[in-house]
Amino acid sequence: MTTFADPDSAGTAAPETDVAQERRLVTEIPGPRSVELMDRKTGAVAAGVGTTMPVFATRAAGGIVVDVDGNHLVDLGSGIAVTTVGNSARRVVEAVQRQVAEFTHTCFMVTPYEAYVAVAEALNRVTPGDHDKRTALFNSGAEAVENAVKIARVHTGRQAVVVFDHAYHGRTNLTMAMTAKSMPYKSGFGPFASEVYRAPLSYPFRDGGLDGAEAAARAIDVIDKQVGAGNLAAVVIEPIQGEGGFIEPAPGFLPALAQWCRENGVVFVADEVQTGFARTGDLFACEREGVVPDLIVTAKGIAGGLPLSAVTGRAEIMDATHTGGLGGTYGGNPLACAAALAAIETIEQDGLVGRAREIETLMRERLGRIAERDGRIGQIRGRGAMIAVELVEEGTDAPNPDLAKAVAAAAHQQGVIVLTCGTYGNVLRFLPPLSISDDLLNDGLDVLDAAFESAR
Ligand SMILES: *Cc1c(COP(=O)(O)O)cnc(C)c1O
Repeated sequence: MTTFADPDSAGTAAPETDVAQERRLVTEIPGPRSVELMDRKTGAVAAGVGTTMPVFATRAAGGIVVDVDGNHLVDLGSGIAVTTVGNSARRVVEAVQRQVAEFTHTCFMVTPYEAYVAVAEALNRVTPGDHDKRTALFNSGAEAVENAVKIARVHTGRQAVVVFDHAYHGRTNLTMAMTAKSMPYKSGFGPFASEVYRAPLSYPFRDGGLDGAEAAARAIDVIDKQVGAGNLAAVVIEPIQGEGGFIEPAPGFLPALAQWCRENGVVFVADEVQTGFARTGDLFACEREGVVPDLIVTAKGIAGGLPLSAVTGRAEIMDATHTGGLGGTYGGNPLACAAALAAIETIEQDGLVGRAREIETLMRERLGRIAERDGRIGQIRGRGAMIAVELVEEGTDAPNPDLAKAVAAAAHQQGVIVLTCGTYGNVLRFLPPLSISDDLLNDGLDVLDAAFESAR
């Protein structure tokens, strides 16, 4: 086994792996074996399940995904913000291997086990606020969002839920209703759950200079007039929007909303499924403005790639639900719990919050240089290792989704995994694993730089 970086040196993450930490193309993208597998996929997998890149993975570690043809791809996506601690991170692998040999499942609701309780304790400790907390575990982000709404409804005795423009909360029936964008998430899949209302967000690039307080007042006015605080169980918001375009509300927006919720007995729910676990250069994005949510929903980065999600919050809200009202066959699966404990330990021991901030500095500097000469970059935004560029028609603020597609396609051809997002499809987003080295990150950004040039 080769170590490719010094584990103690900042700025060069240290995947202990035999996966060479360099971009290496040995075939065209996609290579012949991937093409073959894509044919099998088409014949076997439902057409509704799309893929960003037409290559099939065999291994991944550090900042590299290896495909079945032996190409080494630079990972600027982390499987959509999931492998924050890196793919097959050492502690995660060891913890899961230990657990899988002991027992794989008993169902926590039948014969409970310690790891679930330990994950709950860890989440109660690391999430914002020092109040008394409780946690319940689930399998996916959408399932956890649904459960946060269930809990808020029982606690308040109210039904309405407020969400925001550009929001993404998942693909189940209730979370489709909460998600804003029709294509591809909702189109044709209705009717959707009722009692979900949408308020305007703070979107500094596109809302004409409204500051955070003004944008909050605008949202609260809509909520007040169209829903009424007395009917409202919960306000659910992503502190930085994920799929909606990495939109970071103006300072003051989140604190004002949280304050209004507190004054009106409304449960303030932070959906930190994408922003959580060091991703934004804080353990949770809410911390940046000192916002303490009543409930916080986590998933994605929680368990190093194993499926797990959670709702954590004030004990009096979490405990309002009758015994047996929350749960699920697999929720808090022992392998996922072992992985979560190892992932949280990795974040804390390896200083990954600080690493996310270093990645932000590097990415902003490099992207800033591209933006200086390319007027099609309307804005660089985001925090930590959650950075995006919103692309426009030069000299206007008209969304430019074609450029996002072209740049992403060019990067894919050169072996760099990048994702797009945004209501208008015009946002390139970067979510590197925090285990990526500066060298790999710089190499990925070199490719991106050239991709902007080739897309002229
Ligand atoms: C991905 C995501 C979800 C849904 O999570 P799944 O695990 O895909 O169900 C919910 N909210 C946010 C903010 C997300 O990014």
